[in-house]
Amino acid sequence: MQLRFYPHTLELRHAFGIAANTRTSTPAMMVEVERDGIIGYGEASMPPYLGESQETAAAFLRRVDLTRFADPFQLEEILPAIDALAPGNAAAKAAVDIALHDWIGKKLGAPWHRLWGLDPAKAPITSFTIGIDTPEVVRQKTREAAGYRILKVKLGRDATTDRELIETIRSVTGTPITVDANQGWKNRDEALRMSEWLAGQGVLFIEQPMPKEQPDDTAWLRERSPLPLIADESIQRLADVVKARGVFDGINIKLMKCTGLREAHRMITVARALGLKVMLGCMTETSCAISAAAQLSPLVDWADLDGALLIKNDLFTGATITDGRVTLSDHPGIGVVKH
Ligand code: MG
Repeated sequence: MQLRFYPHTLELRHAFGIAANTRTSTPAMMVEVERDGIIGYGEASMPPYLGESQETAAAFLRRVDLTRFADPFQLEEILPAIDALAPGNAAAKAAVDIALHDWIGKKLGAPWHRLWGLDPAKAPITSFTIGIDTPEVVRQKTREAAGYRILKVKLGRDATTDRELIETIRSVTGTPITVDANQGWKNRDEALRMSEWLAGQGVLFIEQPMPKEQPDDTAWLRERSPLPLIADESIQRLADVVKARGVFDGINIKLMKCTGLREAHRMITVARALGLKVMLGCMTETSCAISAAAQLSPLVDWADLDGALLIKNDLFTGATITDGRVTLSDHPGIGVVKH
């Protein structure tokens, strides 16, 4: 099996503001595996704050030798070996995982949601993200998102700015909101006051309210918060899921954090065993990685799979969003067609 890769810089439709920074593009690395005339597609999306880059991904992928595995169906042999090549590099590892899953599904002629035994009609509603911006731009973005049934709002600056952002959106729409503080609230008393205020604003839950270094404060907040707390930055991989118990009410799983579909599927299983809610998230990504994640979506409570809608230069057609809901097709593998 041959492995190829090439860089692709994702151009964002709007400058994207979160608590830590604002950016206008996201570096990505596209991966292809080929054998028997079938090409499997994969992708690594690497927002700079996560520590990977096109350079680190290329360096890692140059070390991946798929020719030493005789049977590309043996993911249980191949993916642990790739994971063991180096620590970190989660997005680069995910790109290979996604491409192998795509190849296997195409070889079998079935999409992964079918191979996992899932009902595509149970694919969830997906949220559409509104970044931090000026009131005028936020109103414009909110109007553009009229077809979505949940809006995700990036908070985590100061309380006044956060409240103004919610009020700006509420001046345009009553659509349910989920908020993502991206670790921005350092003080637990202020975080509790914000949760109590947000509960009166039609907010469904709070993602990563406090820094990942403050699990005790987060657990304190969870005991008192009227809104559920969902872990994102605190929970990266399978071994982290158990740490959410007693601290969060649920976890946000992203392929780029957890090395891909194989581990994401297991994280969902463990989270359910621990009584946790599950959300499926993304970075800004092409329809390649989004469609891969969408294959798992019938298993989760909430999806946040708007990443491909936020970019101008998608390379694929894949899982779509219809009337705010993730829509899976019968295309085999991860369900994408390259343009
Ligand atoms: Mg998040």
